[in-house]
Amino acid sequence: MSMTFDFSGQTAVVSGGTRGIGRAAAEAFLAAGAKVYALYGGDEAAAQAMRDAHAGDGRAAVERLDVSDGEAVKAFWRRLEDGGEAVHVLVNNAGIRHDAILAMMAEDDWRRVLDVNLGGVFHMSKYAVQAMSGARYGRIVNIASPSGKYGFEGQSNYAASKAGIVALTRSLARETARRGITVNAVSPGYIDTDFIGNLAGELAGEYRKTVPLKRFGRADEVAMAILFLASREASYITGGVLEVTGGL
Ligand code: NDP
Repeated sequence: MSMTFDFSGQTAVVSGGTRGIGRAAAEAFLAAGAKVYALYGGDEAAAQAMRDAHAGDGRAAVERLDVSDGEAVKAFWRRLEDGGEAVHVLVNNAGIRHDAILAMMAEDDWRRVLDVNLGGVFHMSKYAVQAMSGARYGRIVNIASPSGKYGFEGQSNYAASKAGIVALTRSLARETARRGITVNAVSPGYIDTDFIGNLAGELAGEYRKTVPLKRFGRADEVAMAILFLASREASYITGGVLEVTGGL
């Protein structure tokens, strides 16, 4: 992968940074010279694989942090602050889905998806903005979804969380503009990760046909959009949503 952005001397925090899109983004930041905190929810095997892959460069910190846990998130950011570690980039990528039609949806599935996908962005952004405000520089990139724009059957919880992320992005961008912090979202289409890996073969084929580019995207293709919005070069973009959907 060729790289045009330089993140040397910068620190990036990527939630859900051990698998899929988050891992691709974390690795792209590492390749571009950043120190990276790759956070994960509970898959220790994936976390270890990420640690092993980057043990050599000393710039990857892989840590378990449930982004829906406000106290744990606060403690994470306080630790960085106490250690004098400035964070330049936050990518709110951690996301889950528990699909069911609304009439049959368990309240726990409603709550958990909102707590992780939207609550996680709230908790992480709150402390990131506090930390970045002092430096008067920061880049926050949130991961939305076409589900939040169009709605999908069986995804009312997920779609609501992703629409909420776009609304949060636009509001927070206005709040932080005067402090040198930009806030944007990337909306990926069908990207080939574990997240959609359980789509039955026939259904995957049907979905692929609906994409103008006639294929699913790759995680590294989303990572490039994240890196662009997180770069110093994206200095006049805030409150926006960049679609990486193959034309959906
Ligand atoms: P994956 O399922 O491959 O990876 C999800 C990542 O999020 C994992 O690292 C996982 O950690 C982490 N995570 C889950 N829950 C938590 C939590 N409570 N706290 C911290 N981390 C957590 O997903 P993708 O890479 O495909 O998706 C990444 C983002 O992109 C999500 O927000 C998703 O909604 C969005 N997206 C994905 C699309 C796609 O087609 N793939 C399309 C549109 C949007 P662990 O491994 O420990 O579980």
